[in-house]
Amino acid sequence: MTPWYKQLHWQIVIGLILGLGWGLLSSASGFNEFTTDFIKPFGTIFINLLKLIAIPLVLASLVVGVTSLNDTAKLSRMGGKTVLVYMFTTVFAITIGLVAVNLIQPGTSLPEETKQSLIESYEPVNANPTEQLDQGPLDFFVRIVPTNAFDAFADNANMLQVVFVALILGIGLIYIPIQQGEVLINVFSSLNDAIIKIVDLIMKTAPVGVFALMAGVIVDLAGDDLGRAVELLVALGWYSLTVLLGLFIHMVLVYGTLLKVVGKMSLRKFLIAMRPAMLLGFSTSSSSATLPLTMDRVKNHVGVDDEVASFVLPIGATINMDGTSLYQAVAAVFIAQALGMDLSIAQQLTIVLTATLASIGTAGVPGAGIIMLVIVLQAIQVPVEGIALILGVDRILDMFRTTMNITGDATTSVVVASMEGKLRSS
Ligand code: ASP
Repeated sequence: MTPWYKQLHWQIVIGLILGLGWGLLSSASGFNEFTTDFIKPFGTIFINLLKLIAIPLVLASLVVGVTSLNDTAKLSRMGGKTVLVYMFTTVFAITIGLVAVNLIQPGTSLPEETKQSLIESYEPVNANPTEQLDQGPLDFFVRIVPTNAFDAFADNANMLQVVFVALILGIGLIYIPIQQGEVLINVFSSLNDAIIKIVDLIMKTAPVGVFALMAGVIVDLAGDDLGRAVELLVALGWYSLTVLLGLFIHMVLVYGTLLKVVGKMSLRKFLIAMRPAMLLGFSTSSSSATLPLTMDRVKNHVGVDDEVASFVLPIGATINMDGTSLYQAVAAVFIAQALGMDLSIAQQLTIVLTATLASIGTAGVPGAGIIMLVIVLQAIQVPVEGIALILGVDRILDMFRTTMNITGDATTSVVVASMEGKLRSS
């Protein structure tokens, strides 16, 4: 038995706690600059390392995964199931978010002065999400197909294009005689093995990386005015609690049931196996950066077969964001409530549709969810400026929703593996 201090999840927890302490201390005592200049960069290096291996990993593991399936009918059957389960969990997540925010009504309890001062300090989010979704109903599919594979590899936010390239390369390899394909398959297979080893090595630096990330987040949030940050947290307490409660209910209800009924696995056992990946998702706020560890945990600790995990997880890291969609639903209604607007049933149904689309379009990087929230707000005609109200706590909520995004991907891989008879009981 590995001693507790050598277990990855404990190392991450300790890094997180120390980082939190350090961040608070620097904000309270005014040595913020030191933290920003000399601590935060280690967090950036850590997250860069994870992102660095994400694309080669998706490419190599998917090519190996597809060629090992060796049958395109099996591939499309698995693809269909994957997308179906992803959509199902997303719609559930949004519904839970909507029910929670309508029952709790956090928007009505926001003090008038806080509302005013938040709106006054608002600077528009500098991105144009409409660029991504406003170009027609089929634009999503158009954006999956790159015109240049190397462009796709060069853009971390375009994981779906990498998935696409890997899939067609894998399919091409299935169709040629094995003697001709063998060389390339072996290359990808070696690349895959090397990357898995690299993940292990990077994880050895996780305590330091996570410490630096957490300290950086706190310093960015609190700045020199810790009191103001705490005030904001309290004012937005009900809103944040609504998001957290929704995420918790979604995990227990939807994932718990799916795991139990389809995967024949208890939620507890699953969460214990997934702990390090969830904590890393929490620390990095990035599904893409966490993907290498998610894959490792799902394959080696949850018991999902290689070929299912390599297929389901890279797709999930890009299109399946239950945490994000639930948060978008809560945020949209919260803003409407705070601005004194009543949303009709039709508008709430529009939220289900647009939050599903918006979460598919959200890249697995920190802060992407709030940018895509603009689409949801526009669809229900709530002023986009309302985002000012929730910006202050978004970084923190991002940590939680990313954790849930990762958990959702892993749950789906268990469900698909179980349906395909590819779940090892471990
Ligand atoms: N940070 C999230 C993720 O990577 C996306 C979001 O901002 O909601 O999964």
